[in-house]
Amino acid sequence: MDLQESIDRIAIVGAGPVGLTLAIALAERGFGIDIYEPRYTDSEGAQLSNGRSINFTIMERGLKAFDIIGMRDQIIEIGVVLKQRTVHFPDDIMINPFGGNITSTVRREDLQRVLYKKAAEFSQIKLINARVTSVDIKKGEVAWSGQQETGVQAYLQVFGADGAHSTVRQSFQKYHWFELQQETLNLGYIEFLFPPELAKGNFEADTLHLWPRPNCYLFGLPNNDGSITINFFYPLTGPNSFEQIKSNEDFKNVFTQLFPNTLKCIPDLDSLWSGLKVSYLQDFQCFPFSHGRASLIGDAGHTIQPYQGQGVNLGLEDVSAIVELFDQHKDDWEKINQEYSLSRKQSARSAKLLTDLTLVEYTKELPDPSFKQVCRIIGYLLKNYSPVFCTHFQLIAFTHADYCEAEIRQNVERKIIQELVQRSDLNMILQKDVKNQEILKLLARYGLREEKK
Ligand SMILES: Cc1cc2nc3c(=O)[nH]c(=O)nc-3n(C[C@H](O)[C@H](O)[C@H](O)COP(=O)(O)OP(=O)(O)OC[C@H]3O[C@@H](n4cnc5c(N)ncnc54)[C@H](O)[C@@H]3O)c2cc1C
Repeated sequence: MDLQESIDRIAIVGAGPVGLTLAIALAERGFGIDIYEPRYTDSEGAQLSNGRSINFTIMERGLKAFDIIGMRDQIIEIGVVLKQRTVHFPDDIMINPFGGNITSTVRREDLQRVLYKKAAEFSQIKLINARVTSVDIKKGEVAWSGQQETGVQAYLQVFGADGAHSTVRQSFQKYHWFELQQETLNLGYIEFLFPPELAKGNFEADTLHLWPRPNCYLFGLPNNDGSITINFFYPLTGPNSFEQIKSNEDFKNVFTQLFPNTLKCIPDLDSLWSGLKVSYLQDFQCFPFSHGRASLIGDAGHTIQPYQGQGVNLGLEDVSAIVELFDQHKDDWEKINQEYSLSRKQSARSAKLLTDLTLVEYTKELPDPSFKQVCRIIGYLLKNYSPVFCTHFQLIAFTHADYCEAEIRQNVERKIIQELVQRSDLNMILQKDVKNQEILKLLARYGLREEKK
């Protein structure tokens, strides 16, 4: 194999949402880009979905990257803007409004299509239908294998955007200093749809739906055709688990017992199970994200669980970070790589930690009836002390605040709630439901105070 040199070009391995967004941002800055993607055939016929995570929630931090490439409005337009979260308890519902902040859901396929289309507008972006087999991260050399040929190409800079099971990350693993933690949980998921004709009228289309249950949960994200994508997260093994579901009848029994209000939206419940595939969840944390001429972005650098809908958002934040560093340091890729790696380390760790806590919220806290009091307290604080008080979820979903800041806020939130739960006059305060000077003082003790004008 001859080594081809393209030392003024950049290689992006993987044309998922993160790789494509970075390609467009760097092409706008004048770079020639080669994107390697084995599932690519042409911009119309590309296989757009990878058979998992049919749709995504895109939040403010993800939209920031789409601002950079001038596509915020277009991405919001192809999705569904959510106005609230509805929590379906067995005998009750709870509504958490998003207060006019933008969170939207977009189908992976639609997102990929508009990004491919935009990328195709740049003559300097070349989409290559090939799988990358290894990368020499020090020299920036990419070895690839297409349908007929193979090759090695040298680049100015290589970005590994090739997802959770990244080949580029494997090339980092050859070095003793590379840290990699991998976690596989005893939790799997299945994905299916409530069809539009049944979802409409039964479940709101502009709402994120959650059914929290002990050790498992169901999650519903609406699509722009009126359907709702459903993910059921359930233990893989053990007494109540996918392992125990041996037939359509078993599956029907589980759903009838756990989620009776969904049955009217599943027309093929009698046969659904036999057509489904249980997927398992893995998360990967690594460091550093950069070395030599290569950087890892998106799921390739940090695969977190989908409970809080942050994977794409965290990955798109990598894109914003790289572009901001490029605008600051211009062609000094060594500096960009170093600063990128250091700046994203803690954000990725905090995002993982907050995601893990979300699983506890969905499968332990919310299903516990005593947690209703905590929900009432949070509702009271949000209603009477916003914006002085906002939750860590609001920081994650509606702001660009670093995930580390959201982690600190989660801690503060927990301590404030602990103090309030111990007050003998708590029920009176909640009943009156007005601003209270003592609570203002309590919030101020945790650094949450009104800004002086
Ligand atoms: C059930 C589920 C629900 C989710 N829901 C959400 C959500 O609501 N919100 C959210 O933000 N995130 C969500 N996620 C996470 C989200 O799917 C990922 O974070 C996101 O897809 C990562 O984007 P990416 O571009 O980094 O990688 P990917 O989307 O995985 O794309 C990687 C690309 O690289 C290509 N590739 C792989 N290997 C090679 C190779 N060797 N050479 C060349 N190309 C290669 C692949 O074909 C693919 O096109 C969810 C995930 C799951 C599993």
